[in-house]
This record gives sequence, C-alpha cells and structure tokens, in this order.
Amino acid sequence: MSKKYNPYQSMLNVLDKAAEKLGLTYDDYVCLRSPERELTVSVPVVMDDGHTEVFTGYRIQHSSSRGPCKGGIRYHHDVDLDEVKALAAWMTWKCAVVNIPYGGAKGAIKCDPTTMSEGELKRLTRRYTAMILPILGPEKDIPAPDVNTNAQVMAWIMDTYSMFKGYAVPGVVTGKPLEIGGSLGRAEATGRGVMFTVLNLVEKMGLDKSKLRIAVQGFGKVGSVSAKLLNEEGFKIIAISDVSCGLYNEKGIDINKAKEYADNNKNLLKGYHEEGMKEITNEELLTLDVDILIPAALQNQITVDIAKKTQAKIIVEAANGPTTSDADEILEKRNIPTVPDILANTGGVVVSYFEWVQNAQFFMWDEKYINISLNKIMKKAFDEVWQVHLDKKVTLRMAAYIVALDRVASAKKIRGIFP
Ligand code: GLU
Repeated sequence: MSKKYNPYQSMLNVLDKAAEKLGLTYDDYVCLRSPERELTVSVPVVMDDGHTEVFTGYRIQHSSSRGPCKGGIRYHHDVDLDEVKALAAWMTWKCAVVNIPYGGAKGAIKCDPTTMSEGELKRLTRRYTAMILPILGPEKDIPAPDVNTNAQVMAWIMDTYSMFKGYAVPGVVTGKPLEIGGSLGRAEATGRGVMFTVLNLVEKMGLDKSKLRIAVQGFGKVGSVSAKLLNEEGFKIIAISDVSCGLYNEKGIDINKAKEYADNNKNLLKGYHEEGMKEITNEELLTLDVDILIPAALQNQITVDIAKKTQAKIIVEAANGPTTSDADEILEKRNIPTVPDILANTGGVVVSYFEWVQNAQFFMWDEKYINISLNKIMKKAFDEVWQVHLDKKVTLRMAAYIVALDRVASAKKIRGIFP
C-alpha cells in the first residue's frame, strides 16, 4: 500500500528549495520548519440523542514572527495533524506574500458536519473554543472560516471567547456576521481575490480574456464566487463541479442560475440543467481542454496522474494545497503556469485583516474602499512574485515562496531567538 501523501512534508520540500534559492543557511530558517505551537484537544459533545461523543480538535500556530497568528478553522471528517500543520504554514506564507502583519495558524475539528444538527455544531464549536481559549486572542491568534465553517460558527467562537473575558471581543475572529463587527466584502473576498489574480495573470501574459474558457472545481464559498465574478468580467465558465457532480457546457454556464439552483438544493449542483449541458466526472473536469483550471475545493486534487493528463493551459489555485508536490514537478516540466494558493487565494485573509483593523478602530469601512484596497494589495503582491519569477527563472510557486520566506526569515532574524 502506498504511504499516505503528507502535505507538511511537501510544504517543507518547497520551503527548503526556496531557502536554497535565497542563499539562506539552515540556521536562518530552521525555526520555520516546525510550527511554534501544536495544540490537540478532546472536544466532548452531548449529542441530540443524549449520548456523548468525543471529537478531536487542533489549533496549530506555525509562526508569529511577523505578527499574531492568523488562519481559519475547518470541520472535516478526514483532517489530520499533518494537514493542519501544512495549512498553518501556508497561512504564514500567504500573509507574508501579501505583506500583511500576521503569522500563520490553522485549526480543525475531525467531524462530519453534514450529519450534525445545528445544536450539536454549536456545542461542538463552543467547547472547542473553550479548549483552545488560552492561545486565542485578537493580539495572539485570530481564527476565521474555512472548509465547512461560516459566519455563524465565527459568531459562536466570538461569543464564547467574550463570555470568558466578560466583555465583547469582536477582534478575536474574522469572517463574522456584519451585525457583530464583520466586514463588508469579507464573504466574497477569497473569490474576488481569485478573480483579481486571474486578471493580473491575463495582463502579464498578454491574453485576451474574452477568448478564455475556464473550469472551476468546487462550488462553495470560493469556487462559486470566483466563477460568478470571472463570468461578470467576461470570461466563459464552461465547467463547474461540487461533491454531487460535475457540469460541462461548451457554450458557457449561466453561473447566477447555477448558484440560485444550488442555494435552493442544499448547496448542491446535482440536477441543474441548461441546454447543451452534460454531466462530467471530477477527473474529466480536472483534465478538460480549458485555458484556465481553477481548483477551488480541497487539497491533493491535482495528483501525478491528473498533472500528466490535464489539458489545462494555466492553473490558478483557489483551494489550499490542491496540487501535490510531485504533480507540481510534472506541471513545471510541462510548462503549465500555476499561480500558487499562497498568492491566488489570499483575498480572504486580506479582507480578514481589514476586518480586524476595523474592529481595532471601532470603525466601519465601505465596501468600495475594501474592494479597491484588496485589489491594490493583491496587485502589488502579484507584481512582486512575477518579477522574482522572471529574475530568478523559477516557477510562480517558487517565486511566491521566495518572496514570503525572505520576509519571514528577515523578521525572525531582526527579532532574534529568545532568550
Ligand atoms: N481560511 C481562509 C484561508 O485559508 C481565510 C483565513 C483567514 O481569513 O484568516 O485563507
């Protein structure tokens, strides 16, 4: 049996290469090869039928060199420690690529939220928050939504934390509902950032967007918004998918209608139909002849097999870690430009940063200002990564790691090692 793919090891492989390209010594970055803090907690929940279930939860803080740790919390039946460690490290690199003053963290609970009632999810969230409370705080570690968590889950975390403190602490989480200090534009921010990334790439490569055909894997918070906004920008979306099915229409899919259908169908696309549309498998979507493939679901989707077969001309990673490291080598050999997750999906954490700043200022910014500021930050980051890509003749992923590691290693060096 083949050994399970280890995303943390894969992150380390890229990190070591980036350090070499930067001319860093092992001592310069060895601290960044392991997370600063790993917390595993048992989370007991009295289920609706009266029995007690004990879930495993994690909160990993990878680095706080550039500021408080920042990153989402996911609920998934298949998470493990190495995945959360990789996700936490990717948050460090993301925040550094876009140069916002955060380190990286990630949390998870191993559970299947689709089989749980709202009451069970609420108790799970509150108890998990209580268990990780000592390491949370607006100046320590600030969670946000991720796979299978949302604004409501953030509201429960904010309330639980605030109850322990004795006063409202909106800045302890981002991605909150607007009513309790959330930010305008946060819900769509990751997808909007993916759209900005595609526009930046199209400009650099001198492509004509009206001729580009796109496939998007995943139709959740990130995939559906990316597809919608790219469609509004004049790109043709010819394939979409979610856990229930894949859909293909060469004429271009009406994304607004598909979204409306999914909203009324337990968030699933299954059963949606347009003239000229046919159902395809997940593998068919990933290997379609398209100009841009946007994986916006989970990690480890573009495997060696898919990388060999895909006919996509460009890949833009909206999910975290969608490409395995050996698949990445194949994409490089095949000259398929791949905009890495740590650049392409930073829109979410950038607007999280805006939300946290607004909470600290007790002030609300308008949506136009938020979207313009997001575009500015993402364009600057894209330009910097692109320049390193050209100067050092490395892939966009390597260039993004070089930019990020340079910033984090410098911060670490300036601060020095305690004591
Ligand atoms: N979960 C999102 C991510 O992976 C957002 C993190 C945040 O806003 O802190 O980037």
